[in-house]
Amino acid sequence: MTVLRKNLIDGEWLGEAGSRNINPSNTNDVVGEYASAGPVEAKQAIAAAKAAFPAWSRSGPLARHAVLKKTSDEIMARKDEIGRSLAREEGKTLAEGVGETIRAAQIFDFFAGETLRLSGELVPSVRPGVGVEMTREGVGVVGIITPWNFPIAIPAWKIAPALAYGNTIVFKPAELVPESAWTIVDILHRAGLPKGVLNLVMGKGSVVGQAMLDSPDVTAISFTGSVGTGKRVAAASVEHMRKFQLEMGGKNPLVVLDDADLGTAVDCAVNGAYFSTGQRCTASSRLIVTEGIHDRFVDAMRDRLDKLVIGDALDAKTQIGPVVDQTQLKQDEDYIAIGRQEGAELAFGGDRLERGTPGFYLQPALFVGSTNAMRISREEIFGPVANVIRVKDYDEALAVANDTPFGLTSGICTTSLKHATHFKRNSEAGMVMVNLPTAGVDFHVPFGGRKGSSYGPREQGRYAMEFYTTVKTAYTFAG
Ligand code: NAD
Repeated sequence: MTVLRKNLIDGEWLGEAGSRNINPSNTNDVVGEYASAGPVEAKQAIAAAKAAFPAWSRSGPLARHAVLKKTSDEIMARKDEIGRSLAREEGKTLAEGVGETIRAAQIFDFFAGETLRLSGELVPSVRPGVGVEMTREGVGVVGIITPWNFPIAIPAWKIAPALAYGNTIVFKPAELVPESAWTIVDILHRAGLPKGVLNLVMGKGSVVGQAMLDSPDVTAISFTGSVGTGKRVAAASVEHMRKFQLEMGGKNPLVVLDDADLGTAVDCAVNGAYFSTGQRCTASSRLIVTEGIHDRFVDAMRDRLDKLVIGDALDAKTQIGPVVDQTQLKQDEDYIAIGRQEGAELAFGGDRLERGTPGFYLQPALFVGSTNAMRISREEIFGPVANVIRVKDYDEALAVANDTPFGLTSGICTTSLKHATHFKRNSEAGMVMVNLPTAGVDFHVPFGGRKGSSYGPREQGRYAMEFYTTVKTAYTFAG
């Protein structure tokens, strides 16, 4: 018997059964049943958040610290159980699920600390006898809209700073991963948040998400997801003159130079391109390789890919879990067909795999002989598919790396300090990695990109304050 998970609106768990959540490793396994909010529930949630804002925004740092710290502690204490549930609903491996859960706990811990460190500035006015104070205040009701690929870390890195800086929240998670979203909200609710401060509205993006975009009472929206939806968020937010922040797709390059350590380069490429089934906005989908190391790199990649264990996410031996659902699987397979039609050569994988249970298993795919003009080089696939682009030298590699509408992460594998330094300075990406995978970042430093990947202030770390607060300048004449 599955338990019905309800929406949290104004401190009450509400709603009837609306949707079922299926395990992508075994489609016979129903993870749970979830209430589905509509426009009425969205409006109620927004009204509750609006009503709760004045008191929460004036609550002292201790009240906010207590809730965030307690939440961090509970997530950490339950990391194995929550991580397993995350792997069951999203399809990433157990190790990845537990790792992501630990990260969520660390994020809540970090922002618990930030509540005690919020400061302002006091400067003399240019007018004698007048003082000027600059302080930061919460912005109001924040709409949080999240994707399915990091079901607990992305909600954590938006909810934690929003609460720390005194905002109230309407949270709409992705339809595919309601269990992780519900779990995090349940923990925060029991940690002692006053009613209305955090509201959960599970449901369709086109219905609940759209109701949030259309409401003049949502003062800011933090969105992570696809470029198409991001553009809708932007257009609706401009209409309402609201603050918004978008984290969207990537087509991240990993450059491998002749002087790279081959083992490091292959580790970075396999991790960056295929771990989490390639379903990371920071995945390395373009492997840009100079000609002196090209053939050795491709041979070593084939060897390594052949040894990867692809299977049920809940099996401890699995290194690559299934694709998240049928729609994403079709997209991956369509792009594999497109790559072939465009003239790239499939050097490894790309086939559906049968396992003991019905699931969306796909062999990691590696193309060679591709150019940067091909669609597989320009469009985000969001699956375990990468392509190698052969280049002459470092200068060509940098030019190809930057020739993309996206700019989230980039990486270079080299033993040359000169090239590593030049690449860090000249790569048009928000995050640059040297001898590290393009995916995999710290929780206490800014996260975000450039060009078509991101819009607005950075997320995470102390930089998150920029989005979740507004600055007030106050003048006092003491007489
Ligand atoms: P998506 O755009 O389909 O959905 C994201 C969220 O938006 C979901 O909660 C969805 O329900 C909601 N939504 C859909 N239509 C809406 C509407 N009309 N109004 C309001 N909300 C609506 O994206 P997805 O498929 O869940 O996630 C995959 C995408 O997310 C990829 O492009 C990936 O690169 C991106 N992503 C980016 C980052 C980053 O930080 N840059 C991180 C993770 C994922």
